[in-house]
Amino acid sequence: MANRPTFGPAGIPLAFDVLKRPVEDVPEYLHSGGLDAFEYQAVRWGPKPQMQKENAEKLGFKAKEHDVRLSVHGSYFVNFCGDALTVEASKRRLISCITAANWMGAHEVVFHPGFYSKSHEEDLRRCVKAMNEIVEFMKSSGIFSVSLAPETTGRVFQLGSLDETLTLCEKVESTKPTVDWSHIHARGRGKLRVIDDFRRVFNEIERRLGTDTIKELHCHYTRVEFGRVGERRHHTMDETEYGPDFEPLAILIAELDLNPVIISESPILDIDSQKMQDIVFREISKRNNDRF
Ligand SMILES: [Zn+2]
Repeated sequence: MANRPTFGPAGIPLAFDVLKRPVEDVPEYLHSGGLDAFEYQAVRWGPKPQMQKENAEKLGFKAKEHDVRLSVHGSYFVNFCGDALTVEASKRRLISCITAANWMGAHEVVFHPGFYSKSHEEDLRRCVKAMNEIVEFMKSSGIFSVSLAPETTGRVFQLGSLDETLTLCEKVESTKPTVDWSHIHARGRGKLRVIDDFRRVFNEIERRLGTDTIKELHCHYTRVEFGRVGERRHHTMDETEYGPDFEPLAILIAELDLNPVIISESPILDIDSQKMQDIVFREISKRNNDRF
Protein backbone atom coordinates (compact mmCIF):
# COMPACT_ATOMS: atom_id res chain seq x y z
CA MET A 1 0.00 0.00 0.00
CA ALA A 2 1.27 3.44 -0.85
CA ASN A 3 2.56 5.54 2.03
CA ARG A 4 1.01 8.63 0.52
CA PRO A 5 -2.43 9.67 -0.69
CA THR A 6 -3.00 8.41 -4.24
CA PHE A 7 -5.09 10.03 -6.97
CA GLY A 8 -6.56 8.97 -10.28
CA PRO A 9 -9.63 8.84 -12.50
CA ALA A 10 -12.75 6.66 -12.52
CA GLY A 11 -12.26 5.39 -16.06
CA ILE A 12 -10.27 6.20 -19.16
CA PRO A 13 -8.99 9.79 -19.35
CA LEU A 14 -10.76 11.73 -22.10
CA ALA A 15 -7.54 12.78 -23.89
CA PHE A 16 -6.27 9.18 -23.74
CA ASP A 17 -9.47 7.89 -25.29
CA VAL A 18 -8.86 10.00 -28.40
CA LEU A 19 -5.49 8.27 -28.91
CA LYS A 20 -7.25 4.91 -29.43
CA ARG A 21 -4.56 3.08 -27.48
CA PRO A 22 -5.33 -0.07 -25.46
CA VAL A 23 -6.38 0.24 -21.81
CA GLU A 24 -3.05 -1.35 -20.77
CA ASP A 25 -1.37 1.95 -21.69
CA VAL A 26 -3.47 3.98 -19.22
CA PRO A 27 -1.03 3.56 -16.28
CA GLU A 28 1.87 4.99 -18.29
CA TYR A 29 -0.34 7.90 -19.38
CA LEU A 30 -1.45 8.62 -15.81
CA HIS A 31 2.07 8.29 -14.43
CA SER A 32 3.35 10.84 -16.96
CA GLY A 33 0.74 13.25 -15.57
CA GLY A 34 1.84 12.59 -11.97
CA LEU A 35 -1.15 10.40 -11.04
CA ASP A 36 -0.96 7.03 -9.31
CA ALA A 37 -4.41 5.41 -9.15
CA PHE A 38 -6.88 4.10 -11.72
CA GLU A 39 -10.39 2.73 -11.22
CA TYR A 40 -11.21 0.47 -14.15
CA GLN A 41 -14.89 0.70 -15.07
CA ALA A 42 -16.54 -2.70 -15.38
CA VAL A 43 -19.90 -1.03 -14.81
CA ARG A 44 -21.80 -2.67 -17.70
CA TRP A 45 -20.42 -6.16 -17.25
CA GLY A 46 -22.61 -9.23 -17.29
CA PRO A 47 -21.93 -12.73 -15.98
CA LYS A 48 -18.62 -13.13 -17.88
CA PRO A 49 -15.54 -10.87 -17.71
CA GLN A 50 -15.68 -8.55 -20.73
CA MET A 51 -11.91 -8.45 -20.94
CA GLN A 52 -9.40 -11.15 -21.92
CA LYS A 53 -7.38 -12.55 -19.04
CA GLU A 54 -4.21 -11.77 -20.97
CA ASN A 55 -5.14 -8.08 -21.31
CA ALA A 56 -6.15 -7.81 -17.66
CA GLU A 57 -2.78 -9.25 -16.66
CA LYS A 58 -1.03 -6.84 -19.01
CA LEU A 59 -2.88 -3.93 -17.39
CA GLY A 60 -1.83 -5.18 -13.96
CA PHE A 61 1.78 -5.56 -15.04
CA LYS A 62 1.91 -2.06 -16.53
CA ALA A 63 0.21 -0.60 -13.47
CA LYS A 64 2.97 -2.05 -11.27
CA GLU A 65 5.64 -0.87 -13.65
CA HIS A 66 4.31 2.71 -13.55
CA ASP A 67 3.37 2.71 -9.85
CA VAL A 68 -0.38 3.05 -10.44
CA ARG A 69 -2.75 1.50 -7.90
CA LEU A 70 -5.70 -0.34 -9.46
CA SER A 71 -9.29 -0.79 -8.37
CA VAL A 72 -12.36 -1.89 -10.33
CA HIS A 73 -15.84 -0.37 -10.33
CA GLY A 74 -18.11 -3.39 -10.53
CA SER A 75 -21.31 -3.82 -12.51
CA TYR A 76 -24.18 -1.38 -11.99
CA PHE A 77 -26.52 -4.33 -12.56
CA VAL A 78 -26.29 -5.60 -9.02
CA ASN A 79 -29.26 -5.76 -6.67
CA PHE A 80 -28.79 -7.88 -3.59
CA CYS A 81 -32.13 -6.65 -2.17
CA GLY A 82 -34.13 -8.29 -4.96
CA ASP A 83 -35.78 -11.70 -5.34
CA ALA A 84 -33.73 -14.93 -5.47
CA LEU A 85 -33.25 -14.85 -9.26
CA THR A 86 -32.10 -11.23 -9.23
CA VAL A 87 -29.69 -11.92 -6.40
CA GLU A 88 -28.19 -14.95 -8.19
CA ALA A 89 -27.73 -12.97 -11.43
CA SER A 90 -26.23 -10.08 -9.42
CA LYS A 91 -23.77 -12.42 -7.74
CA ARG A 92 -22.62 -13.78 -11.11
CA ARG A 93 -22.07 -10.25 -12.44
CA LEU A 94 -20.07 -9.16 -9.42
CA ILE A 95 -18.05 -12.38 -9.49
CA SER A 96 -17.09 -11.71 -13.12
CA CYS A 97 -15.77 -8.27 -12.02
CA ILE A 98 -13.92 -9.83 -9.07
CA THR A 99 -12.35 -12.45 -11.35
CA ALA A 100 -10.96 -9.77 -13.67
CA ALA A 101 -9.89 -7.61 -10.71
CA ASN A 102 -7.89 -10.61 -9.48
CA TRP A 103 -6.25 -11.02 -12.91
CA MET A 104 -5.24 -7.34 -12.84
CA GLY A 105 -4.05 -7.31 -9.25
CA ALA A 106 -6.67 -4.66 -8.40
CA HIS A 107 -7.23 -4.05 -4.70
CA GLU A 108 -10.99 -3.39 -4.54
CA VAL A 109 -14.18 -4.11 -6.43
CA VAL A 110 -16.47 -1.18 -5.73
CA PHE A 111 -20.22 -1.78 -6.08
CA HIS A 112 -23.65 -0.41 -5.20
CA PRO A 113 -25.37 -3.11 -3.09
CA GLY A 114 -28.96 -2.68 -4.25
CA PHE A 115 -32.32 -0.94 -4.22
CA TYR A 116 -34.61 -1.03 -1.21
CA SER A 117 -37.51 -3.40 -1.77
CA LYS A 118 -38.64 -4.71 1.63
CA SER A 119 -37.86 -3.20 5.03
CA HIS A 120 -34.40 -1.68 5.28
CA GLU A 121 -33.44 -4.39 7.82
CA GLU A 122 -34.53 -7.22 5.52
CA ASP A 123 -32.76 -5.62 2.54
CA LEU A 124 -29.56 -5.28 4.57
CA ARG A 125 -29.84 -8.90 5.70
CA ARG A 126 -30.12 -10.04 2.06
CA CYS A 127 -27.04 -8.01 1.09
CA VAL A 128 -25.03 -9.54 3.93
CA LYS A 129 -26.10 -13.03 2.87
CA ALA A 130 -25.23 -12.49 -0.82
CA MET A 131 -21.90 -10.86 0.04
CA ASN A 132 -21.00 -13.73 2.39
CA GLU A 133 -21.70 -16.18 -0.43
CA ILE A 134 -19.43 -14.19 -2.74
CA VAL A 135 -16.66 -14.18 -0.13
CA GLU A 136 -17.03 -17.97 0.15
CA PHE A 137 -16.64 -18.20 -3.62
CA MET A 138 -13.53 -15.97 -3.49
CA LYS A 139 -11.94 -18.15 -0.81
CA SER A 140 -12.68 -21.38 -2.65
CA SER A 141 -11.23 -19.89 -5.87
CA GLY A 142 -8.04 -18.72 -4.17
CA ILE A 143 -8.86 -15.00 -4.51
CA PHE A 144 -7.42 -13.41 -1.38
CA SER A 145 -6.12 -10.02 -2.41
CA VAL A 146 -9.33 -8.39 -3.68
CA SER A 147 -11.67 -6.63 -1.23
CA LEU A 148 -15.37 -6.20 -1.74
CA ALA A 149 -15.91 -2.46 -1.37
CA PRO A 150 -19.58 -1.47 -1.02
CA GLU A 151 -20.04 2.21 -1.80
CA THR A 152 -22.04 4.88 0.01
CA THR A 153 -24.79 5.56 -2.53
CA GLY A 154 -26.16 8.84 -3.82
CA ARG A 155 -29.92 8.29 -3.94
CA VAL A 156 -32.39 7.71 -1.15
CA PHE A 157 -33.89 4.59 -2.79
CA GLN A 158 -30.50 2.84 -2.94
CA LEU A 159 -29.24 0.83 -0.01
CA GLY A 160 -25.97 2.46 1.01
CA SER A 161 -26.25 5.08 3.73
CA LEU A 162 -22.98 5.47 5.62
CA ASP A 163 -24.47 3.44 8.48
CA GLU A 164 -25.56 0.59 6.16
CA THR A 165 -22.24 0.57 4.33
CA LEU A 166 -20.36 0.27 7.63
CA THR A 167 -22.73 -2.47 8.81
CA LEU A 168 -21.99 -4.49 5.64
CA CYS A 169 -18.28 -4.12 6.36
CA GLU A 170 -18.74 -5.14 10.00
CA LYS A 171 -20.69 -8.25 9.05
CA VAL A 172 -18.82 -9.54 6.01
CA GLU A 173 -15.15 -10.59 5.83
CA SER A 174 -12.83 -9.27 3.11
CA THR A 175 -14.68 -5.97 2.81
CA LYS A 176 -13.84 -2.31 3.14
CA PRO A 177 -16.06 0.71 2.57
CA THR A 178 -15.87 2.97 -0.46
CA VAL A 179 -16.70 6.44 0.79
CA ASP A 180 -18.19 8.50 -1.99
CA TRP A 181 -18.17 11.97 -0.43
CA SER A 182 -20.39 13.37 -3.16
CA HIS A 183 -22.97 10.67 -2.57
CA ILE A 184 -23.02 11.33 1.18
CA HIS A 185 -23.48 15.02 0.37
CA ALA A 186 -26.22 14.45 -2.24
CA ARG A 187 -28.13 11.84 -0.29
CA GLY A 188 -28.06 14.13 2.74
CA ARG A 189 -29.15 17.05 0.51
CA GLY A 190 -25.99 19.05 1.05
CA LYS A 191 -24.97 17.76 4.46
CA LEU A 192 -21.18 18.14 4.06
CA ARG A 193 -20.65 21.86 4.65
CA VAL A 194 -17.93 22.52 7.20
CA ILE A 195 -14.84 20.56 8.20
CA ASP A 196 -16.57 19.00 11.21
CA ASP A 197 -19.15 17.41 8.90
CA PHE A 198 -16.28 15.54 7.20
CA ARG A 199 -14.61 14.86 10.53
CA ARG A 200 -17.78 13.17 11.82
CA VAL A 201 -17.67 10.74 8.89
CA PHE A 202 -14.02 9.82 9.59
CA ASN A 203 -14.77 9.46 13.32
CA GLU A 204 -17.70 7.15 12.70
CA ILE A 205 -15.71 4.93 10.32
CA GLU A 206 -12.80 4.81 12.75
CA ARG A 207 -15.09 3.96 15.68
CA ARG A 208 -16.72 1.07 13.83
CA LEU A 209 -14.00 -0.31 11.55
CA GLY A 210 -10.78 0.87 13.16
CA THR A 211 -7.97 3.32 12.48
CA ASP A 212 -6.42 1.28 9.66
CA THR A 213 -9.61 1.70 7.64
CA ILE A 214 -9.55 5.50 7.73
CA LYS A 215 -5.77 5.56 7.16
CA GLU A 216 -6.16 3.98 3.73
CA LEU A 217 -9.74 4.83 2.90
CA HIS A 218 -10.96 4.20 -0.64
CA CYS A 219 -12.81 7.37 -1.71
CA HIS A 220 -14.71 8.84 -4.63
CA TYR A 221 -15.01 12.58 -5.05
CA THR A 222 -16.62 15.04 -7.45
CA ARG A 223 -18.71 18.17 -7.06
CA VAL A 224 -22.33 17.10 -7.37
CA GLU A 225 -25.75 18.55 -8.12
CA PHE A 226 -28.63 17.00 -6.19
CA GLY A 227 -32.40 17.03 -6.07
CA ARG A 228 -35.12 15.67 -3.81
CA VAL A 229 -34.01 12.03 -4.05
CA GLY A 230 -30.28 12.71 -4.19
CA GLU A 231 -27.58 12.78 -6.85
CA ARG A 232 -28.42 14.43 -10.19
CA ARG A 233 -25.16 15.10 -12.04
CA HIS A 234 -21.44 15.51 -11.51
CA HIS A 235 -19.60 18.82 -11.91
CA THR A 236 -15.99 19.90 -12.27
CA MET A 237 -13.74 21.28 -9.54
CA ASP A 238 -14.11 24.80 -11.01
CA GLU A 239 -17.92 24.79 -10.67
CA THR A 240 -17.71 25.93 -7.07
CA GLU A 241 -21.44 26.57 -6.80
CA TYR A 242 -21.77 22.81 -6.25
CA GLY A 243 -20.53 21.00 -3.17
CA PRO A 244 -19.10 19.34 -1.32
CA ASP A 245 -15.98 21.52 -1.07
CA PHE A 246 -12.75 19.60 -1.41
CA GLU A 247 -10.62 21.76 0.91
CA PRO A 248 -12.04 20.43 4.22
CA LEU A 249 -11.27 16.89 3.09
CA ALA A 250 -7.72 17.88 2.08
CA ILE A 251 -7.14 19.62 5.42
CA LEU A 252 -8.28 16.52 7.32
CA ILE A 253 -6.09 14.21 5.22
CA ALA A 254 -3.12 16.39 6.21
CA GLU A 255 -4.18 16.80 9.84
CA LEU A 256 -4.89 13.10 10.47
CA ASP A 257 -1.93 11.95 8.37
CA LEU A 258 -4.10 9.75 6.11
CA ASN A 259 -3.13 7.95 2.90
CA PRO A 260 -6.46 7.56 1.12
CA VAL A 261 -7.07 6.61 -2.50
CA ILE A 262 -9.08 9.43 -4.06
CA ILE A 263 -10.80 8.52 -7.31
CA SER A 264 -12.06 11.46 -9.35
CA GLU A 265 -15.56 11.10 -10.78
CA SER A 266 -15.50 14.61 -12.21
CA PRO A 267 -16.69 14.99 -15.83
CA ILE A 268 -13.04 15.81 -16.67
CA LEU A 269 -11.68 12.87 -14.61
CA ASP A 270 -7.86 13.01 -14.51
CA ILE A 271 -7.62 16.79 -15.04
CA ASP A 272 -9.53 17.29 -11.79
CA SER A 273 -7.60 14.44 -10.16
CA GLN A 274 -4.48 16.57 -10.57
CA LYS A 275 -6.28 19.50 -8.93
CA MET A 276 -7.30 17.31 -5.98
CA GLN A 277 -3.72 16.08 -5.68
CA ASP A 278 -2.37 19.67 -5.75
CA ILE A 279 -4.77 20.74 -3.00
CA VAL A 280 -3.95 17.78 -0.73
CA PHE A 281 -0.18 18.12 -1.24
CA ARG A 282 -0.46 21.87 -0.58
CA GLU A 283 -2.23 21.16 2.73
CA ILE A 284 0.34 18.52 3.68
CA SER A 285 3.28 20.85 3.04
CA LYS A 286 1.52 23.71 4.86
CA ARG A 287 1.18 21.46 7.85
CA ASN A 288 4.78 20.27 7.68
CA ASN A 289 5.95 23.90 7.53
CA ASP A 290 3.85 24.72 10.59
CA ARG A 291 5.38 21.78 12.42
CA PHE A 292 9.03 22.77 11.89
ZN1 LIG B 1 -20.18 3.97 -7.81
